[in-house]
Amino acid sequence: MEPLGVYVHYPFCRSRCSYCDFPIAVVPEPDIPHDEYRGAVVAELHARAPALAGRELVSIYIGGGTPSLARPSDVEAVVAAVRAAFSAQRSKLEITLEANPVDCTPDRLEAWRRAGITRLSIGAQSADPEELVTLGRDHRMGEGREALARAAGAGFESVSADLILGVPGPGNAGKRALRSLDALAGSGPDHLSVYELTFEPSTPLDARRRRGEIAALGEDELEEIYRLCHSELGSRGYEHYEISSFARPGHRAVHNSLYWRAAEYLGLGSGASSFVRHPGGSGERWRNHRSVHRYLAAAPDERIAERDSLSPADLRADRLWLGLRTADGVDERAFEGRSKLLAYLLDTGLARRHENYIRPTLRGFLCADYVAQRVIDDRW
Ligand code: SF4
Repeated sequence: MEPLGVYVHYPFCRSRCSYCDFPIAVVPEPDIPHDEYRGAVVAELHARAPALAGRELVSIYIGGGTPSLARPSDVEAVVAAVRAAFSAQRSKLEITLEANPVDCTPDRLEAWRRAGITRLSIGAQSADPEELVTLGRDHRMGEGREALARAAGAGFESVSADLILGVPGPGNAGKRALRSLDALAGSGPDHLSVYELTFEPSTPLDARRRRGEIAALGEDELEEIYRLCHSELGSRGYEHYEISSFARPGHRAVHNSLYWRAAEYLGLGSGASSFVRHPGGSGERWRNHRSVHRYLAAAPDERIAERDSLSPADLRADRLWLGLRTADGVDERAFEGRSKLLAYLLDTGLARRHENYIRPTLRGFLCADYVAQRVIDDRW
C-alpha cells in the first residue's frame, strides 16, 4: 500500500510575525470561528478521502498558523475523523501539532496528549531577545526553552524545535546562533528544524531591509553559521538527515520525510496543498484558497484555487532533487539517462557514492537549490 500523510492547516494567529507570508488570518482569540473551521475541514476530508482509498495513512500533521490556539477538543475531533476516514492500520501513527511556546502550559500539554498528539513541534525560533523582537514573535527569551523542557517531560514520543538562523542583529551572528543552538538543543528536543531567514517580499521585515534599517547577512556568514550548526548539533548526537533537519536516532520526522520522498499527501484547510499520483506515472498538485473567508464560503469540493498536472518526467525529476536534499540520497538507478549530471555531481564534490546510493555532501546541502535547478534543467 502507498503511504499517505494528511496535513491540516490551522490558519489563525494572534499577530503576524515580521517575516511571515504564510496563509494566515490574524484574529483575536475570542473571535476564532472554532466550530465553523473544524466543520469545514472535516467536510473537506469527507469529500476528498474516497478518491484516496487504499493508501496507508502514516502521519497527520497539524500546522499553521498557530494550531496551539485550536481547542484541544477540536484537535481530537479532527484527528479522529482523519483516522476513521483512512481506517489507519498503524498503531504507531505519527501525529504532530505545531505549538507556540506561550501555549505550552502543563494543562494544554496534557490535553494535546489526550487528543492523540504524539509529536510536538515548538516554534521557539531563537533564544536571543533581540532576534525575537526583530522576528516579531510573541514570546520572550527563555519561553522557548521552558516550553521545550516542559514538553520533553510531558510524555510525547517526540518533541521538535524550530530555529531560524541568520537573523540580523548586533554583534557576531555566528555567536548568537551558537547561543540559541546551545539553549534550545540543551532543553532536550529529539529533533530540530533549522531554517535560514528569508526576506519574503511584502513582509514588514523585508520593508525594513529595503529602508536600510537592517541588513541581510552575507553568503559567507550564512555558510559559516550553517557549518557551525552542522558540527554543533552533530557533536550533540543529532543526525543531519535533511538540509534543515536534525534528529536523535529514531526521531526522524515521518510526515516531512513523505514530502522528501515525493510521496502522496492530502492537505486540508485554507491554503493547504495536496499531491497525488495517477496510474501511469503522472500526478497532480492542488492548493486550496489561501483566504480563510473564501475557503469557508466555498462548498467542500470547490475549495481548490490552483491545480497543476505533473508528467511522469516531472515526477522523476522531483523525486531526484528532493532525494538529494536528504542524507540518504537516491538510488543510483534514478540517474538512468543522466550520466553526465551524475558525473558532474560526483566530480564537483556535491555528492558521493555510497554503495548503490548517491548522497549529497555537506557542500551539496549548501548548494541544494543549485543542485535542484541542475536536475530540473537536465530533464530535457
Ligand atoms: S506564528 Fe507562524 S504562522 Fe503565525 S504569523 Fe508567526 S510565523 Fe506566521
